[in-house]
Formats: sequence, structure tokens, C-alpha cells
Amino acid sequence: MQRRHLLHTAAALALAIGSTAAWAQSGGVLNLYSARHYQTDEALYEGFTRATGIRINRIDGDDNGIVSRLRSEGAASPADVVLLVDAARLWRAEQDGLFQPVRSGVLERRLPPQLRSEDQGPGSQWFGLSTRARVIVYDRTRVSRDEVDSYEKLALPFNKGRLCTRSGSHPYNLSLFGAMLEHHGAQQTEAWLQGLVANMARAPKGGDTDQIRAVASGECAVAITNSYYLARLMRSDKPEDRAVVERIALVFPNQGTTGTHVNVAGMAMARHAKNRDAALRFMEYLVGDDAQRYFADGNNEWPAVDKVKTNNPALAAMGDFRFESVPVSAIGRNQVAVQRMLDRVGFR
Ligand code: FE
Repeated sequence: MQRRHLLHTAAALALAIGSTAAWAQSGGVLNLYSARHYQTDEALYEGFTRATGIRINRIDGDDNGIVSRLRSEGAASPADVVLLVDAARLWRAEQDGLFQPVRSGVLERRLPPQLRSEDQGPGSQWFGLSTRARVIVYDRTRVSRDEVDSYEKLALPFNKGRLCTRSGSHPYNLSLFGAMLEHHGAQQTEAWLQGLVANMARAPKGGDTDQIRAVASGECAVAITNSYYLARLMRSDKPEDRAVVERIALVFPNQGTTGTHVNVAGMAMARHAKNRDAALRFMEYLVGDDAQRYFADGNNEWPAVDKVKTNNPALAAMGDFRFESVPVSAIGRNQVAVQRMLDRVGFR
């Protein structure tokens, strides 16, 4: 009753002042730690503030930076909601007690069980927002599709001197390699990683987009990239990007075997969240139709919520594919072993 009264007063005050800024302040704040490094997300956050009056304070970092910050801040952390872009990091942060369970009918209804962390009763600790595939692109003037249509083939001798990738220790690669370890076991996976190193056209450097561009420029002939970086180039009007897209082709790897590796970007409520109501509202907003459509149409990811209608010509052109099913917990657990293999085979 009292709380309701307060809200009324705040609303009346905002109306009296007639300023949207005052209204926004009355809606409170939300402290967001985000590893999503995509400019198009701005509109998502603005949409939430417009709908709720809740202002978002955002702190950006990469997955590792955010997780170590949460760890060192402990109970004093101002973080309410955490966004990470790798399933293994979400899993690790949950194991380390950096999140808290959330019980929400909206989240449970909207998200399929495989895109939520295990619910042991009190609720899930993290929730997927979107998925992205780790795909292969190749130079269509030099490579035939059947030479590069699986992750395994990238390590075979006929691809010597052709391969470009970002650092092996990047979360996107560690998760792919963790899934490979689950499929093939330690011995074969380490031999495969050694084969990748032997086939590199250059030492790993740059991000996924740099690898795609290096294929188009002829420096490499084949590369591994997340699907949305490619889709972004496919949708670009810039002549230099058009030229890149003309020169390359996409393959969803392992369609005849284990399926293409898919990773998850997701969210969680921070263990020591102070603004829990605002946090839950934000989390529920992110699985709404508009926000979900935005992950697809804005950042070229696949929405976590089924049946959301999207309008993205690049995703439509990529078409459907078979994706692998390896439990996130297995990928998470395998990270340490995979990193040791990378060190042994000299995959930087
Ligand atoms: Fe990314």
C-alpha cells in the first residue's frame, strides 16, 4: 500500500514537471554489465528505458573482464544484470556463484529448456537470448566446398597454408574446441588442434571479421567465423564489403555428422543485485517479441524464442542447418583441458 502510494507520488511529480528526464529517474536504475559488443544493442536498451522509465547504467567489457570484475567486487558489486556472449562463460560464472537463481513464468514459457541453465527448484541461473553458429567461409576461387565442409577437414594436409582463425584462447574458439573434445576424446582432439596449427596461413590475430576479409584478400583460403559477422558483411552496402561477399562462400560444417557448433549469448541476475525488480523486468523485456526480433534483425543472431518472426535477408539466405547438441556443462568443463592442449600444440 505504502509502496503504491510512493509510486503514485513519483508519477504525479513527473507529470507535474512534464519532463521525460524526471519520469525516467522515477523509474529507477539498472546496472548492467555487458559483454555484448554490438552497436545495434543501443536501441534495445533505449526501448527498455522508454517503456519502463528505468535508466540503464552500462559497464562494457569482454566475458573474462566482466567475470573477474564480478569476482573481485563480491558483495559490493553494483551489477544487477550480466550479459555474456559465450555459453561456457555463463556456465563458469554460475559454478563460481556469481549469479542467483531466477524464477519467472515469462522466462520459463518463452525459452526452451536447452537455452536455460538447469533448474534445480529455485529457478535457472542463466537464460539464453540468442544463438550464433561457428561457420566456415572459404575462397570460392581457390577451394572446393568438399575440402572444407567439416571442422575435422580443416586439419587435413590438403588444407596446408590455407587456414586463418582468431586466437585459439578466445571464448568462441574454446567453446568450439570444447565441443570437439566431447565428440572425439582427448587424443584425437589434440591431434586435430595440431593439424589446425600446421595448416595456418598466418599466426592467429584479429577478430572474426578480419579472418573473413583475409580470405577475400587472398591471404588465407579458409576461415572460421561466427555467423553474424558474415551476415553483417552480407547486408552491407559498402563496395568493399560487397567485394568480400562476392569472393567467399559459406558452409555450415559437419552437416552429415555431428552438426554445426552453436554458441549462446545470454543473461543472468547478478548474485548481489540491488535492483532486483528492475533486473527481472529487463530480463523479461529481453525475451519479448520486439527485443528478440531485434537480436535477429539488428545483430544477425537467431532469436532464442521460437516463432519470433524476423525480417533479415542475410539470415534467410543462409538457410536452415543442423546444429550439434552438446551440453553446455560439458563444453564448460572441457575448457581447461582444451586450453592446456592449445599451449602444448602452440595454438596462440
Ligand atoms: Fe562477437
